[in-house]
Amino acid sequence: MNTVYIALGSNLNNPIYHIEKGIRQINHIPLTYVERRSSLYKTRPVGPQNQADFINSVIRIKTDLEPIELLNQLQNIEKLHHRKRLKKWGPRTLDLDILLYNDIEMNHERLVIPHPEMINRDFVLIPLREITNMNFTLPKYGKLTKYIE
Ligand code: ATP
Ligand code: CA
Ligand code: CA
Repeated sequence: MNTVYIALGSNLNNPIYHIEKGIRQINHIPLTYVERRSSLYKTRPVGPQNQADFINSVIRIKTDLEPIELLNQLQNIEKLHHRKRLKKWGPRTLDLDILLYNDIEMNHERLVIPHPEMINRDFVLIPLREITNMNFTLPKYGKLTKYIE
């Protein structure tokens, strides 16, 4: 099976509920299960500051779905949480980003892997470090620890 890391984020209407439910729903995607999850982290929003703090987490899954099939499933789960795309980086009930898929690099119009912003975001790097080992290496970017203080 393929090994995939996914970042979850929420800052609307009981964020912990949305994250926990999102993880359970991901575990129910066909040909997919959740293997490991980080703690929940409370973080300040990126971009507009006049919105609530986020709850963030990173999980590792195993899946037999192709990257785009997995993205479709994740976007479907976002929809079930009534995710609305109001404005860039605005508040949201559930955001699901694919960080890494095995060691592939891809630049599809709907899907860029590794996620291009992951190395700039502590709210992704720190939970990812929690569930990987000290020598964990990102495709394209190299050693994870070099991006963390
Ligand atoms: P950011 O990508 O900077 O975290 P965002 O999560 O707020 O911003 P969204 O509105 O959730 O952005 O997603 C916009 C589009 O990004 C999606 O429709 C999807 O096709 C595309 N996308 C590209 N790469 C990825 C990826 N690795 N994971 C999830 N979506 C991606
Ligand atoms: Ca995002
Ligand atoms: Ca997203």
